[in-house]
Amino acid sequence: MKTLFNSGEGTDGTLSIASAFAGHQEDRDHKFLTKAVEEEYKGVECGHGGPFGAVVVRSDEIVVSCHNMVLKNTDPTAHAEVTAVREACKKLKRIELSDCEIYASCEPCPMCFGAIPLSRIKRLVYGAKAEAAIAIGFDDFIADALRGTGYYQKANLEIKKADVSGAVIAEQVFEKTKVQVYHVLIVDRIEIYGCMRQNWSSSLS
Ligand SMILES: [Zn+2]
Repeated sequence: MKTLFNSGEGTDGTLSIASAFAGHQEDRDHKFLTKAVEEEYKGVECGHGGPFGAVVVRSDEIVVSCHNMVLKNTDPTAHAEVTAVREACKKLKRIELSDCEIYASCEPCPMCFGAIPLSRIKRLVYGAKAEAAIAIGFDDFIADALRGTGYYQKANLEIKKADVSGAVIAEQVFEKTKVQVYHVLIVDRIEIYGCMRQNWSSSLS
C-alpha cells in the first residue's frame, strides 16, 4: 500500500524534501525508492552494514545505487547516503550533483543530511521515518536531522572552543590561503560555487 507521509520544500527553498510517496511524481519516486530498499536488503545479506540504501538519480537514470558500508569499510561514516554521494561524484567526475536527486531508504541522519546539501543535490526523497530504525536499535540521533533538533548528537559529546591563540592560528589559514583556494575551487569550477565566486571576487579586487 502506498502511504502519504508528507512532502514539501525546504524552509530556505534550496532543498526539496519528499517523504514517499507524494504528488504527481508518485510512480517515479516509488520506482527509485524501491531500488534503495533493495539495496538495504543487499547490504545486510552481504554483511556490509546496516539496512540502509540510497540511490542517486540524474535525468531519470540511476547514477549509483549504494548501501551502508560501515562494516565492510570499517568506517562509521560510510552510511548509504554519504557513500552514494561519494560514488556519484567519482562516477560523474565532479564535486557537485545539482542535477541529481537522492532517494534514501530511511530518513537521513545529521551527517548524511549535511553531505546532501554539500553536494548541491536539490531533491531528497526518503522512505522510512527515523523511528523505524530507532525501534530496532539504531542511534536516535537520526531523528535530529530533518527535524532540526540537534539534540541527540550532542547529548554525549564534549564540545570545546579553542582558546584565543588556537583560534587565531586556525582562522589565519583562511586569509593566508584565500588566493590559492579562490583559483583552485572557484575559478576552475565556476559553475559550482557561483555565489561564493561573486563574494570572493569583490573581496579580492
Ligand atoms: Zn547517515
